[in-house]
Amino acid sequence: MRPSEKSASQDRYRGRFAPSPTGELHFGSLVAAVGSYLQARASDGEWTIRIEDLDPPREVPGAADRQVETLAAFGLLSDLPVQRQSRFSARHHAALDRLVQAGLAFPCACTRKDLPPDGVYPGTCRAGIAAGKSARSIRFRVTPGCVRFTDALLGPQEQTPALECGDFVIRRADGLVAYQLAVVVDDAAAGITQVVRGADLLDSTGRQILLAQALSLTPPGYLHLPLVVDAAGRKLSKSQRDDPVRRHPAATALRLALRALGHEPPAGTRSVTAQLAWARAEWNIAALPQGPVAIDVQGDGQRDYTPERNANQSI
Ligand code: GLU
Repeated sequence: MRPSEKSASQDRYRGRFAPSPTGELHFGSLVAAVGSYLQARASDGEWTIRIEDLDPPREVPGAADRQVETLAAFGLLSDLPVQRQSRFSARHHAALDRLVQAGLAFPCACTRKDLPPDGVYPGTCRAGIAAGKSARSIRFRVTPGCVRFTDALLGPQEQTPALECGDFVIRRADGLVAYQLAVVVDDAAAGITQVVRGADLLDSTGRQILLAQALSLTPPGYLHLPLVVDAAGRKLSKSQRDDPVRRHPAATALRLALRALGHEPPAGTRSVTAQLAWARAEWNIAALPQGPVAIDVQGDGQRDYTPERNANQSI
């Protein structure tokens, strides 16, 4: 990040919600949006929406606008103009070039079927591409050892990307810059101080910290919100039919999202505005569940809530 890109209020909390425009806003995303919004408000900071449109083949036309409209129906309005990450492709590629030139990334000829079943890259092209093969992707050269960080909800974390994934792709075979790199570059450029997102992205954090360090960027803080699962403990399906955001009026869907976050307003607090105001006033990280949260999406939004507050529970 060049100094000119630093925000004037760099010390002020700035959070973001970064949905991928691959469909309608689903319930898991609503929970992440509400959690990141409330954390920003409780920190007297700014909250921004950034559309993660990095994968045109998976993008659904019109989905980004509909997601922003859906968020607005919940009172979740970006404090700064909504941004689209595709607009930042020049700086993504500049970061990629820097990594390659510094020898911190390398071209790789492997296809998916060249990789072992565990998906951990065995270093095949680290020292160069075998004769007769040609470069497809670019991988980040992962340093050995542990990455340590403290998640604001889950506490101290230790990840070893070298063992968990190995050298990972930062430019895909189709030429697109991978999420892992773009998210690091764009969070830094936007002066994001804390990333609040779903626990399904916890595993990516070590990789993102390594990339930030390689680019001499200061990584943001992190808070990973509980995953929402169905009554049988399965990750909530993205099926539109089952999705509370579609199934229920906004006030009920918001109540469910706040319930998933351990902040369900009293029954008499009904409207979207009143619920959000209540949650803003009451927001407390200590009340957030640390493990997966079961929500009965088929129900009427009033039943079957079993937050798991055990700090040691794996997620
Ligand atoms: N686009 C991701 C999602 O929709 C979020 C990525 C992030 O917050 O870093 O789950």
